[in-house]
Amino acid sequence: MSVSEDDPRRRIPRTDQLLALPPVAAARLRLGDHVVRGLVTGAQQRARQGEIEPDEVAAAVLDSLTAHRPTALRPVLNATGVVVHTNLGRAPLSESAIDALVIAAGYVDVELDLTSGARSRRGAAARAALLTACPAAEDGLIVNNGAAALVLATTAFAAGREVLVSRGELIEIGAGFRLPELIASTGARLREVGSTNRTHLRDYADAIGPDTGCVLKVHPSNFRIDGFTAAVDIAELSALTADRGVPFLVDVGSGLLAPDPSLPDEPDIGTALTAGADLVIASGDKLLGGPQAGVLLGRSAAVTKLARHPLARAVRADKLALAALEATLSAGQTPVGRALHADPGRLRARADRLAAELGAEVIAHEGRVGGGGAPGVPLHGWAVRLPEAAAALLRTGDPAVLPRVHDGACLLDLRCVPESDDQVLVAAARTALSGLVDDEHRRVP
Ligand SMILES: *Cc1c(COP(=O)(O)O)cnc(C)c1O
Repeated sequence: MSVSEDDPRRRIPRTDQLLALPPVAAARLRLGDHVVRGLVTGAQQRARQGEIEPDEVAAAVLDSLTAHRPTALRPVLNATGVVVHTNLGRAPLSESAIDALVIAAGYVDVELDLTSGARSRRGAAARAALLTACPAAEDGLIVNNGAAALVLATTAFAAGREVLVSRGELIEIGAGFRLPELIASTGARLREVGSTNRTHLRDYADAIGPDTGCVLKVHPSNFRIDGFTAAVDIAELSALTADRGVPFLVDVGSGLLAPDPSLPDEPDIGTALTAGADLVIASGDKLLGGPQAGVLLGRSAAVTKLARHPLARAVRADKLALAALEATLSAGQTPVGRALHADPGRLRARADRLAAELGAEVIAHEGRVGGGGAPGVPLHGWAVRLPEAAAALLRTGDPAVLPRVHDGACLLDLRCVPESDDQVLVAAARTALSGLVDDEHRRVP
């Protein structure tokens, strides 16, 4: 098809003209030639299809440069009331952790002593922050995540030998994490002790033998067994394992540093160490509130053994995680801590304001710790109740909002929404509600 002389499409700026515009040329350095050419072609295409005028093409290219995101990941306002939301990336980082990430993004002295110019222990500052936060530990090591910490520890202590675990602690956490399978993958043999609901000290005592590599106690984070139950506590097990000369590992899961009165059943690192664990394992991005990381804390000999194992190199934490973890540990309350301990009266006042602006009602709503932590512990709060159909529009809106869909309603719980985003949430909810009204109007009666 030929384009006639007076066809407006003849006036669409050529690719080389658009690429030569100073902001476009600058963006090519930043975003790469491929991305910028794609945006240019996209704008020309829109003009060819008559969506925009030829003289609007240059402005459209500049707009698309501004709107271009470096990652397809989209920020989400978490209005579910679930604090450590696995599908939303678990713990949101504190401001100081985010600052640390930016610093660590460039060249940094993560493994260098600037005074001597010699190579230094990797992540020394993060380790120091960990030991300050956890004085009961003699030494610490930071790896990729909690699962990696477990793999490293069971490999180093028990490859080719037995790991003793209570039958009540053979957990599955989230997709693809089954403790028995994880242990089997390390070449250690799982030796189950006791029964699903009751395990006694003598069960461990009878099972410990020359083939025992270590005893592992795991916090069954995401479920509870009620009724006729018995488990052996850390202090008893540590006395037994010390007596028999067997290493004793405790996986507390969520990474609380000290007891939290609002989560009475959640184990913490400090208490486990004081009670005599040789090594405690935890995640960095659950209740600790930091980046994805696996934290190993305990006796010097145990930590050194792990740090020197060849597998340690395969599971080491990257500089970004080390920086963010250090900042998380050194600063005050984390966003996770803030959401967990949000003042109910304040939550209520915010919900009332939101509801008033939207013409909606407020109902009592229980949030959750999430991330497989503190199952059955309700976090008493409030939710603004919208029609269920608003949920899809909120999720696909800009910004994306994840509400809780429950009982035929779309619920907005403000616990995990920073207060500074309340107005952003109001605007998103208004847009979603007006989308609903439009849908109603379009419907043929
Ligand atoms: C979450 C959890 C893990 C796994 O930790 P990741 O950081 O997710 O790899 C291991 N053990 C327990 C008890 C947990 O709760």
